Amino acid sequence: SSLPPLRSRIFKIIVIGDSGVGKTCLTYRFCAGKFPEKTEATIGVDFREKVVEIDGEKIKIQLWDTAGQERFRKSMVQHYYRNVHAVVFVYDVTNASSFQSLPAWIEECKQHSLGVEVPRILVGNKCDLRDAVRVGTDLAQKFADSHSMPLFETSAKNPNDNDHVEAIFMTVAHKL
Ligand code: GDP
Ligand code: MG
Repeated sequence: SSLPPLRSRIFKIIVIGDSGVGKTCLTYRFCAGKFPEKTEATIGVDFREKVVEIDGEKIKIQLWDTAGQERFRKSMVQHYYRNVHAVVFVYDVTNASSFQSLPAWIEECKQHSLGVEVPRILVGNKCDLRDAVRVGTDLAQKFADSHSMPLFETSAKNPNDNDHVEAIFMTVAHKL
């Protein structure tokens, strides 16, 4: 039997959320298996990929992580939202305003035809910061439920914290 063309086994997943929530660190953790030693603010689009095996089939996962800069967005946004297979919304559990921004990000996705028919998940990052005031899990879970998304709380920095970054992205890949 012949395999489907490689192109059909590439999944594009976009990682969305306010600047500083850890999108770049999360994609780096998943694709490189570690926390980056230093990150620079994403200019334009950060793009990483990793080949994973699912049910004996090799799948290439492309993670796109955008910067929020208005200047960049106008020219790139159409390209960014094209042919997307899944969406990962990220907020920082220690930053309430990044949680409050989520409806706007969800709305922007809907405007680009990325609604409930596309697998979407919600990720609360930086759970390693235990002493900080946190966005409550109950509140986040309610919000996730109201948008029909699963919620994961994680840390790009400490892989043993809560949900594993690897497992989160693999959950998405399995859905695809
Ligand atoms: P982005 O703008 O969403 O891409 O955010 P970055 O990935 O560049 O991360 C922003 C800042 O948050 C950096 O200083 C990271 O080191 C830090 N950061 C990212 N993820 C975590 C995490 O899980 N825990 C902690 N403590 N810091 C994190
Ligand atoms: Mg970034």
